[in-house]
Amino acid sequence: MNAVTTIEKTSANTDFFDRPYLLSIAGKLVDAEHSFDVINPATGKVLAQAPDASEEQLHEAIESAKTAFIGWSALGYEERQGYLERYADALQENRNDLVRLLTLEQGKPLETMAAPEVDQAIAYVRQIAKRRLPVEIVEDNDTHLVELHHVPLGVVGGITPWNFPVLLALWKVAPALITGNTFVLKPTEFTPLTALRFGEIAQEVLPAGVLSVVSGDKGLGPVLTGHPDIAKISFTGSTETGKHVIRAAADTVKRVTLELGGNDAAIVLPDAEYETIIPKLFWGAFGHQGQWCVGIKRLYVPRSIHEDFVEKFVAYARTVKVGNGLDPEVGVGPVQNRMQFEKLKGFLDDIKANGQNIVLGGEIDEDQSGYFFPITVVNDPSEDSKIVREEQFGPILPILVYDDVDDAVRRANDSIYGLGGSVWGRDTEAAVQVANRLEAGMVWVNEIHTQSVDIPFGGVKQSGLGTEQGDEGRKLFTNPKTVLIHK
Ligand code: ADP
Repeated sequence: MNAVTTIEKTSANTDFFDRPYLLSIAGKLVDAEHSFDVINPATGKVLAQAPDASEEQLHEAIESAKTAFIGWSALGYEERQGYLERYADALQENRNDLVRLLTLEQGKPLETMAAPEVDQAIAYVRQIAKRRLPVEIVEDNDTHLVELHHVPLGVVGGITPWNFPVLLALWKVAPALITGNTFVLKPTEFTPLTALRFGEIAQEVLPAGVLSVVSGDKGLGPVLTGHPDIAKISFTGSTETGKHVIRAAADTVKRVTLELGGNDAAIVLPDAEYETIIPKLFWGAFGHQGQWCVGIKRLYVPRSIHEDFVEKFVAYARTVKVGNGLDPEVGVGPVQNRMQFEKLKGFLDDIKANGQNIVLGGEIDEDQSGYFFPITVVNDPSEDSKIVREEQFGPILPILVYDDVDDAVRRANDSIYGLGGSVWGRDTEAAVQVANRLEAGMVWVNEIHTQSVDIPFGGVKQSGLGTEQGDEGRKLFTNPKTVLIHK
């Protein structure tokens, strides 16, 4: 029996996988003069060609978004809601194909990771369509009325990474559109295909120029960040690139929202029922091949349980299969790209060179063609080691021992990053006390990775600037405009 799932194609477009990938600009699907290879990380082979847009094509997309802004921003929430709901319906019709394409270009397991990502993204579009930022009355007295309006910014430029190519893009697009902005998306060069397809789908339901999707190499990013007609950049990616974005945005005083790197700590407290939470901790670290911004990247456990914890954690990890994400038995797919794979090998070399204790994994099969990296657990490396200090963004996890909770909190906070974190303990109140002391934008207590359109999400320190989701996030797609009316 063939172990590889073949998901039925249910979209109206039966050639979803065969027809060329095209840019969507000004409501039209257009090719580029050049193209580039998109690699399937499970095979290391070329999956498809993506259009490598020219700077002129990106300018055209921005110009069309600027023109479209006039009509789109004037529509009002109800009409924009209708458009976004039709967009969610159209995405839903293509859902199975998008899921499969996501696994093919990104590597993540189809049923357990790709399907939830696409479903969540569609649900976000549908839910955000209903959100509003109404006019607020700031003062109303005998002499005057003061209103605070949340007015759209104009054209928003989105720059997205390769770990969640569908979700991270649509959770920028949807709030930007509902608040009245138009959008130009530049997906990463590593995983542009799903974005090109949902861009194509958008052209069937949205007015021309409201959402353009323009793929190309890294050089397009600076064109977007430097363009005078882009009012805001919504960026998710590495901290280093985020710094380039801020610098480029300065010239035209663009708004920026940056969701950057992290080195999230999970702290298991001495009273935690650790046998039961090990699966959650495992998937919190190794889900999506460890390639998520808020993945657990350092796991702190108390000395009292440390030995048994590591044994049970490793035993659980051994039950998880690494392989092609199309195989339904696979829990951890390949690393997304060669660059990241090499970076992870650098971590492994450092771990070995420093004689650190690898209790699981650590051996790479160099003969394989896909970018499969073994689930690797390092037991109690020193706090100043590379694997603890830097963001690994892949399936290597350090488990660290602590003697008292104050020490665990101090070590967790001793980082340039401050994205997420989690605390695990039986006494919820005590766990919340610890959570309150973590320097992070988002801390989960006895759960992990719950998110929704109404939960604000953002990083502190070098993990980010601004917020996504929630009214806080949606407001960042608007300017506050105060109107003072004399009575
Ligand atoms: P990674 O190195 O993991 O790919 P990056 O932060 O470099 O992460 O990439 C995230 C996104 O930023 C991608 O879409 C990429 O093309 C884009 N990008 C890269 N360099 C720049 C830049 N200088 N300005 C704007 N965007 C950029």
